[in-house]
Amino acid sequence: MITIRTCFALGAVGLLATCATAPEPASDPEPKFSALIVDGQNNHRIWPTTTGYLTGYLEETGLFTVDIATTPPAGESLDSYRPAFSNYDLVVSNYNGEPWGEAAMADFEAFVGGGGAFISVHAANNAFPEWTAYNEMIGIGGWGDRTERHGPYIRLRDGEFVHDNTPGIGGSHGIRHEFAINIRDTEHPITRGLPEKWMHANDELYDRLRGPARNVHVLATAFSTVESEGTGEHEPILMTIQYKNGRIFHTTLGHALVSQRCKGFITTFKRGAEWAVTGDVTQPVPDDFPTATEIRTRPDPDEGQSS
Ligand code: ZN
Repeated sequence: MITIRTCFALGAVGLLATCATAPEPASDPEPKFSALIVDGQNNHRIWPTTTGYLTGYLEETGLFTVDIATTPPAGESLDSYRPAFSNYDLVVSNYNGEPWGEAAMADFEAFVGGGGAFISVHAANNAFPEWTAYNEMIGIGGWGDRTERHGPYIRLRDGEFVHDNTPGIGGSHGIRHEFAINIRDTEHPITRGLPEKWMHANDELYDRLRGPARNVHVLATAFSTVESEGTGEHEPILMTIQYKNGRIFHTTLGHALVSQRCKGFITTFKRGAEWAVTGDVTQPVPDDFPTATEIRTRPDPDEGQSS
């Protein structure tokens, strides 16, 4: 198999005969990039399952190999937790737990600041409320006693995203429900080609996130209705952030398993991963992407196995 791949990659005339007679069909190229998922503590007890989902999504792009770095459980020392971030192209956080040790935090700042790619998924933006650099990487976050001390809200006013320094809590959500995602930048590599409005599967609609909010580009919002016990605001849902030389994709989506089986979640996550590493996206929009009126999710891979 390796020989076949090398042969196609070289495209050398002298090897064509070998290629032509090889019985195996053309195979996909080896993944070009390496990703590390960090997890181990989360207020969402499904984190081992969602790490499995995220791993699968990255691998099916054909672009990534995936490793996982799991912390010790809550209450145990994290001093020994020191992933080799610099060995990877991309770090994905499925972590919302106790602060890492000083060395791991310094390593992570050096990784992203030095041009590494990072993705924050759902409650990863609840983590590390007192870690200044982390808050700059995620742009805005929630809970962890975040307040105006951490920075402004990002609010949509007259078609522009502005900072709102009104004092108040950072992070809440109303009743879980299905809601529409509104793409606010149709030209960005992550979102180009997506329907400008599409329905997302049942999820928490994070609202009132706040933080340094520097170098944040909002790609998509969702309207948080008062009826769902939300804010009556267009809340940032998908964002990119530039932190020094590093590119970050931030998705607030993904509370429940069904939320992460939404084909909109999956597509934006996979495209966000590629963009964070390369600055562009080669993955097409799937034909079965959700529409303005129709939610589209993948089937539960565990359905029927637990009864
Ligand atoms: Zn949640």
